[in-house]
Amino acid sequence: MRIVIVGGGIVAAYMANALKEQASEHEVLIVSKEPYPPYDRIHLCSLVNGSQSIEEIALPLPSGVGLELNAEVVQIDRTAKRIYTESSAFAYDILVIATGSKPRTLFGIKGMKNAVTFRSADDSACIAERVKGKNVVMLGVGPIGLELLDTLCTLEGPEKIYLVSRGKHLYDKAMTPASIAMMKRIYEEADPRVEILLEEEIVDKTVEGGEITKVVMKSRTIENPFLIFGVGITPSADLAKEVLDMDRGILVDEHMRSCDPSIYAVGEVAQLPDGYIAGRVKECTLEADAAIASILGKAGEGFKEFVTIDGLKVGSFLLADVTSTRYNPKDSNNEEIVITSKKESRVDHYITNDDRLVRFIGINTNIDVMALKQMMESGEKVDAAYFYANRLVSERGKLICSCASGYEQDLVEIIQTNCIESFGDLKPFSEAGRVCGRCKKDVAQLIADTPVDPEAAARMKAEREEAAKAAELAKVQHRIDKFNTLHPKNMIASENLEEAISAFDMNKEYNRWVSMITANMHLHPDYEPLVSKGVEQLNKIPIIWLELADCTGNSEGFIKSAHPKVDDLILRYISLDYHELLMAASGDQSESVLDSIIKNDAGRYILMVEGAIPMGMDGKFLRIGPKGETGYKLLKRVAENAAAVLSIGSCAFDGGVVAAEPNPTGAVGVAEALGRNDIINLPGCPVNPINIVGTLLHYIMFDELPKLDVKNRPEWAYGFRVHDNCERRGHYDLDEFVLEWGDEGAKKGWCLFKMGCKGPYADLNCSLVKFNEGTSWPVQAGHGCFACGAGKIAFDKYANHRPLAEEDKPDEEKS
Ligand SMILES: Cc1cc2nc3c(=O)[nH]c(=O)nc-3n(C[C@H](O)[C@H](O)[C@H](O)COP(=O)(O)OP(=O)(O)OC[C@H]3O[C@@H](n4cnc5c(N)ncnc54)[C@H](O)[C@@H]3O)c2cc1C
Ligand code: SF4
Ligand code: SF4
Repeated sequence: MRIVIVGGGIVAAYMANALKEQASEHEVLIVSKEPYPPYDRIHLCSLVNGSQSIEEIALPLPSGVGLELNAEVVQIDRTAKRIYTESSAFAYDILVIATGSKPRTLFGIKGMKNAVTFRSADDSACIAERVKGKNVVMLGVGPIGLELLDTLCTLEGPEKIYLVSRGKHLYDKAMTPASIAMMKRIYEEADPRVEILLEEEIVDKTVEGGEITKVVMKSRTIENPFLIFGVGITPSADLAKEVLDMDRGILVDEHMRSCDPSIYAVGEVAQLPDGYIAGRVKECTLEADAAIASILGKAGEGFKEFVTIDGLKVGSFLLADVTSTRYNPKDSNNEEIVITSKKESRVDHYITNDDRLVRFIGINTNIDVMALKQMMESGEKVDAAYFYANRLVSERGKLICSCASGYEQDLVEIIQTNCIESFGDLKPFSEAGRVCGRCKKDVAQLIADTPVDPEAAARMKAEREEAAKAAELAKVQHRIDKFNTLHPKNMIASENLEEAISAFDMNKEYNRWVSMITANMHLHPDYEPLVSKGVEQLNKIPIIWLELADCTGNSEGFIKSAHPKVDDLILRYISLDYHELLMAASGDQSESVLDSIIKNDAGRYILMVEGAIPMGMDGKFLRIGPKGETGYKLLKRVAENAAAVLSIGSCAFDGGVVAAEPNPTGAVGVAEALGRNDIINLPGCPVNPINIVGTLLHYIMFDELPKLDVKNRPEWAYGFRVHDNCERRGHYDLDEFVLEWGDEGAKKGWCLFKMGCKGPYADLNCSLVKFNEGTSWPVQAGHGCFACGAGKIAFDKYANHRPLAEEDKPDEEKS
């Protein structure tokens, strides 16, 4: 099933991870209009002050997930199950719309140099670059506006910082006048550049040369401004408005299904039947869970609203907000209980309805908000006197992390007991700061503020590292033991390659390579340690590589492959005992090397053959070595005692280009020359090195060759049609073809079928795995596929000279 997610935000990343974890067999593609892979929007402030980079706030994506960036989806065709951007089309089986929200502005700001919204990484970069020397005017006083105000105060750039509210409140309309006055005072006293203007608004502006040079407000005029809009958001659902049922957002049921059973909407773009629209990460991920359960056909209750806890640390105060699903700000039965402490700058603000607690907003509060959440969930009636008695004061201090219920005192205790000195060290003891990530800074600050004995800390850190290493080794050892029990003939033991890997100091690169090759072999990530051990085992198997009638392209491809360091290392340690191109020995010396392997490693060595076998004139078109042995005889002699024979490349498969009409040398492939049907074929021109290493690894890890198709090609590499995974496929389906090199279609990246592309006939993983570290492949680079993995077809007619099956034909050619 092909699941396409539109939008590259938090929901998209969460869903891609969860889908790959729960059902890795499905294809997942993310199509995002942003130029960056998904990142954590809640940390945008850290991009403004430069405390983090876009890479540091990136959300991890599992391997195998497709990602199309700079691709704004503008249209959905429900009948054809396709989505369109301005320049491309993508087919889906299931479509998930996760386009989030778009920020509102008070007037059009497109093209203006000094007016932005605050929703994306580009907005952050713009603010960071352009506020210098400006009078910043921030319109909007919600939580994000307050957080940004806090961040701007850390920058030297702005001359003045005005926070402007049309209403009387800060943070939320439910705030009491006393709370608002206190917050205003704290902000303005902390930074003399800050001025908070309530019941204020822009009434006029002057724009010159794409820049706002002046804004006129009710009470004053601000020259040389820089405007930031934080005046609300609206679901970003334009792409669906013509084709799906809509209200404010895309209408969905509790399983996040839209009116089209193949289309889901999740996150801030979706609207549930009671009008609810998510506005926080936690709710968005719970909606995503509901959608995933439905997509995968698992039983699930669907999304249900729940009591939320929000925390916001701004300036010198901490805001805690607990909101019940029953809370309606407009309900006239709402009653307020406000308990303040001027000395501690503390406000505990309870809102009840029919004697039930429906909301709590605390500033610098010490009330146990988890207890309040439970109270709201149970819906129990409670006397106002109960709150005045302050019975719920948290004995464990403030709640720092609401996602992991991390209270200040508990965390301090953990930090002191375990001598924690960094956020990373805390992981084994608490998840605080790791769920939505918002309080990560606070947790890190708490660690910094909690003194620990440095000697004990060093000792415990060493102990922890030792224990982690031992646990990791035990885990690997357990797997190895299991592997060795299953494969007594091919026991795993660490020897020189392991040392070499660590000596190269490239563990990270090596681990990435292992992950890549594991994913490409369609093995679960749990196999990575086994694959890694399999690599160490590669040097235990002697390999003979014969070059027959060929161009050495496969050897070249293998040694100049995408991960030079890793492949170079593997190549050095792989027991390539005989390879005419690579070995130093020549003439008689090389002959005796070959003879000795055939004799001493009979039944153990693997034979890899590159090139066709000319059979004409009794094989005399190809003679090799000092004795002038024919290629055919050499092959026959070496193949006899081999544990397995692999034909590498198209020529070894069926003669390839060497056997192209009129085939003067009578060239054939290995299987035909030997008259055997147990040859493993890896056709390609050249074959992707990943497919060679993957096949070898499979043999080493499982003591057997991978599952083969009817042409004896490993299914994991040849079980895909190039055409089905090609990024130009949408154009094929739309009859949009390049008709001449350099024409308009070529510039727009249309289908190359009419220029001879044979992708529809080619079974190979090129369009999935690609070449050069997955950066590109021929069709992406503008050259048609010539179906090198498919056999004879590669080297004869053009694709468009060959009749297609009726269902595969472009519409205009269907009879
Ligand atoms: C500064 C800031 C701070 C925040 N802090 C918190 C917080 O502390 N805690 C919390 O819980 N929540 C916070 N939020 C809210 C939280 O980030 C959102 O609830 C969450 O990101 C919503 O996720 P989403 O995937 O629905 O949308 P988004 O994360 O907005 O992702 C939508 C993606 O879709 C892309 N897109 C839109 N239209 C198209 C299209 N037509 N084609 C292709 N791509 C498209 C967008 O470019 C974007 O990449 C904060 C938000 C901001 C902006
Ligand atoms: S014919 Fe070629 S270019 Fe066109 S979609 Fe198929 S593989 Fe891609
Ligand atoms: S793109 Fe086509 S011709 Fe090129 S390697 Fe892949 S299958 Fe062979």
